[in-house]
Parts: sequence; C-alpha cells; structure tokens
Amino acid sequence: MSTQSDNKVRVVRRGQGFTAGEGDIFRAQAGATVLAKRGSTGVFLNGSTGTAYEGSNFTAEGGAVVRAKYGSMGKARKDAVIVADYGAVIDAEPGARVVHTPDEEQHVVPGSVKTEFKDLSAVEQEIVQKAWDASKRAYCPYSNFPVGAAILAENAAGETKIFDGCNVENASYGGTICAERTAAVEAVKQGYRKFKTIAVVCAKHPGGSPCGFCRQVLREFGLHATVLNIFNTESGVVRWTVEELLPDSFGPDSL
Ligand SMILES: [Zn+2]
Repeated sequence: MSTQSDNKVRVVRRGQGFTAGEGDIFRAQAGATVLAKRGSTGVFLNGSTGTAYEGSNFTAEGGAVVRAKYGSMGKARKDAVIVADYGAVIDAEPGARVVHTPDEEQHVVPGSVKTEFKDLSAVEQEIVQKAWDASKRAYCPYSNFPVGAAILAENAAGETKIFDGCNVENASYGGTICAERTAAVEAVKQGYRKFKTIAVVCAKHPGGSPCGFCRQVLREFGLHATVLNIFNTESGVVRWTVEELLPDSFGPDSL
C-alpha cells in the first residue's frame, strides 16, 4: 500500500504533523505531532505529541504526551503521559503517567437519571431528533405503537455516524423487529460496531424502555453506551447505560 515508506522510518520533525497509516513506521521528534492510524507503528520521543487510534502500536518515551484511543496498544516509558480512553491497552513502566478518561458516553451518576431535552449536549439532541424522525416511518399496524431509535456508533477508523431505525411489525407477530435492532443492524452492516449513544423514543403514553431482546443486542456492541429514553413528547429524558439495563450480562467475552 504505502510502498515508499515500507521498511523506512518516517522521522517527523519539530513543527511537522504526520498521519501514519497501514505499514508506516514513524519516529516523532520533539515538537512534532503524529496521528497514528490502524496498522502503523512508531515512537513518540520526548516533547512530541499525538493520538494513537485503534489498531496502532506505539511507544511513548519520557516527556511524550499521547492520547490513546479505544483499541490502540502502547508502551509508556518513565515520564511519558498517556491519556487513555476506555479500551486502550497500555503497558506502563513505573514512573509513566497513565490517565484513564471515562468514555464520553459514560455518565458519572449510576442508575437512571432524569434530564430535560434542553440539557442534552448538541450531539445528543441530534441523536434524539433522528430517533423522533425515524419513529414517523414506523410500520406498526398491529400495535399502533411507533418507536424510533438512533445510534451514534464508531467504526474501526474512529469515525462516527448516526444510524436510525423504526419498528417493523409483521402479520406473523413473531417476525416483528424493534426500532433499536433495525438501527443496530444498519450500523453493523456499515462497519460501525462500537455503539456510543443510543436514543429510543416513543410518543405513546406511558411508553417503555428497550425490550429484553434489544438490550441483549445493544450489549453486543456497546456495553457502556448511553441510552437516552424518551417516553412521550412531554416527559424528560431518562438516561441509562446499556450495562444498567442489562446487568451481569452474557456477552462476547463470556465465550
Ligand atoms: Zn426491542
């Protein structure tokens, strides 16, 4: 792929920026910044900064400051500073500083929390709005219970996108699929397997939270994802994590 950098170390000097991709080997000097993407390997030297994404492998020497994203792997030498997201694997020598950031979708207050729509972040409001829009396309002639869902999900490259879904009922009843699962399938189909925030809306009173099937499916791709649940247009938003909705769950790491 990147023929000219095969087996060659790309030295990134002061004031330079470099995005390292598949097969790239980099060496970031003081004052340089490197974005290390999937398949890249390299060293951050004292005074350099950068971000390591899923599938990258790095070493941070003393004095380097690196943001390690979900799925990155790194070695932190003495005096290196690593800001590690959930899911980053860091092998830290004594004297290295590893700061674990809570995942942005994780909230600090355990249990469900009532919030007003206006207090949601701009991104959360967008996700909720997409869920409302999707609920208008629900096919629910049997229950007359339209539900909309939208999922903000991340792919392996660290890109995020919002996928929506609605319930699709079936004359057989058993063939019915919920809104959460139609959105989940769409996200996974497009390679977005890390769910971060999920909105589920239901205009009918009293409405409800995700069913058991959906909790299990959401758990597969986002145990720590936030669930924003809106039961009708008048009420506030109930905030959960998937883990709170499905405690002590069976998941991919159970096998
Ligand atoms: Zn469901």
